Amino acid sequence: MKYAKMREAFNHKIGTFQAISHKLAEMATYIEAARLMVYKAAWQFDHGKADPKLSSMAKWFPANVAVKVADEAIEIMGGHGYMVENEVERFYRDARGAEIYEGTREIQKNTIARYLLGKLS
Ligand SMILES: Cc1cc2nc3c(=O)[nH]c(=O)nc-3n(C[C@H](O)[C@H](O)[C@H](O)COP(=O)(O)OP(=O)(O)OC[C@H]3O[C@@H](n4cnc5c(N)ncnc54)[C@H](O)[C@@H]3O)c2cc1C
Repeated sequence: MKYAKMREAFNHKIGTFQAISHKLAEMATYIEAARLMVYKAAWQFDHGKADPKLSSMAKWFPANVAVKVADEAIEIMGGHGYMVENEVERFYRDARGAEIYEGTREIQKNTIARYLLGKLS
């Protein structure tokens, strides 16, 4: 966000380009959706209504959102985003790790599907 407001290309702040502003709108929306999902899963757990399907959704989806958002942040920052001197490339690696530890995305989807479909013969 800070970079999009500051960086100029073709005499315009890049945040004024619709393609960039739409990325930021999508990133903020995904983050909000992921946050609400985590809060719902945590609320259910706190109230003794833990739902393994929702827990797996709340592990996989926000981790995937973090990867998507960090990837778009790198894109918005162009070559600067790719350099180790900037923290967004580390955010991308950290986010990718979250899709692996504490249950990979494949395993979370297995759990979601198992609760959706039940035992199939
Ligand atoms: C940043 C980071 C931090 C970590 N921190 C810790 C930690 O603090 N403590 C700890 O104990 N471990 C930690 N780990 C290890 C992590 O928990 C394991 O890497 C993870 O559980 C996956 O196990 P694995 O690497 O053996 O992959 P594997 O189990 O060999 O899986 C390899 C691939 O096959 C897929 N796969 C496996 N089984 C199935 C299946 N039945 N159906 C579909 N796909 C399947 C997996 O999703 C994955 O894509 C960390 C890993 C990372 C990346």
